[in-house]
Amino acid sequence: MITEVLTANQLKKEAPVFGQLSFNDHEQVVFCQDKDTGLKAIIGVHNTILGPALGGTRMYNYQTEWDALNDVLRLSRGMTYKAAITGLNLGGGKAVIIGDPKTVKTPALMRRFGEFVHTLGGKYYTAEDVGMETSDMDTVREVTPYVTGISEEKGGAGNPSPVTAYGVYMGMKASAKFAYGTDNLEGKKILVQGIGHVGEELVRLTAEEGANVIIADINQERLEQVSAAYGVDIYRGQDLYAEEADIYAPCALGATINNDTIDKLKVKVIAGAANNQLATENIHGPLLQERGIVYAPDFLINAGGIINVYAEIEGYGREQIKSKTENIYNTTLDILNKAKATGMTTNAAAMSIAEERIASKKNSK
Ligand code: NAD
Repeated sequence: MITEVLTANQLKKEAPVFGQLSFNDHEQVVFCQDKDTGLKAIIGVHNTILGPALGGTRMYNYQTEWDALNDVLRLSRGMTYKAAITGLNLGGGKAVIIGDPKTVKTPALMRRFGEFVHTLGGKYYTAEDVGMETSDMDTVREVTPYVTGISEEKGGAGNPSPVTAYGVYMGMKASAKFAYGTDNLEGKKILVQGIGHVGEELVRLTAEEGANVIIADINQERLEQVSAAYGVDIYRGQDLYAEEADIYAPCALGATINNDTIDKLKVKVIAGAANNQLATENIHGPLLQERGIVYAPDFLINAGGIINVYAEIEGYGREQIKSKTENIYNTTLDILNKAKATGMTTNAAAMSIAEERIASKKNSK
């Protein structure tokens, strides 16, 4: 049913579609709808030069469908850079499902979503992201082989989040080494924003090293649980961004480094798991650089999850997953040093290396 017909003027304003929102040379965007299950999903395939597009499915109660489209465009592009910088033969893709996972998600909806993934014939592989569980990937696996992150009992590599957290920890340590001359996090005050699948494990790793970890989340129950489990403090102030600390680890949603927050930040290092932390890369990257804040590019240090799920496609085991994830430490230091030497932002330095890899594969084809 068409609920709104755009006027000619509005159409002119909206067109062209490919120039809107975060479209950035995306190869394919697929809108999926199923009335019976209530599924409304968008699959974004950004780039497949290095290999099939791989990226998780995020289920979120977006305020508008435009927000969902914008998110999938941004996230799928980020996956292209993540796979390229990590040296994996994968392209970038991502999917979003619109709706609150707590109330809308059912096995039937997940199966229907899997059928849409299947129609792409392996051009896009899905995995879990915010709002998804390993069991959901098992459900998707019932209807398509183009899914990763399935449970170990079903022959998969299992939950990628602990590996993601380990990679973020490696990137954080490398950033600390660059900023403070030592990668020892003992005594460092670390603000972890978002203590979900990844954030909790990062809390464990950093607290075990003796860091002074402060946690923030919108879920009060989880705050109490995680605080009790690892003996860390809950943030009780009014404005986390203005808190004096050594390291800020964004592990909730993206775009938290934006016009409203950037001037308040008092940390020396930003290293966290969230995708797309910079609201606008070419504005907020340089602003962080001007302020002398060391920013560990998100797509570089949160690649542990993709390394883990890629194991299912390539057939490598735990040892290799661990060593590839540990290598995030070296890559992060290399990129921070490259940025310092060239005057580029850390984000741009990482992106340029990823782009060189994609261009060289394209030219060799
Ligand atoms: P999750 O859904 O398990 O956890 C997110 C947490 O953030 C939840 O506890 C939620 O309550 C909290 N949160 C949401 N909005 C918040 C806000 N405004 N302030 C504070 N807390 C808030 O997700 P996850 O799997 O832990 O992923 C966290 C981030 O890392 C996401 O941005 C995700 O895209 C990214 N990431 C995850 C993986 C992975 O392997 N899971 C891999 C790469 C990147």
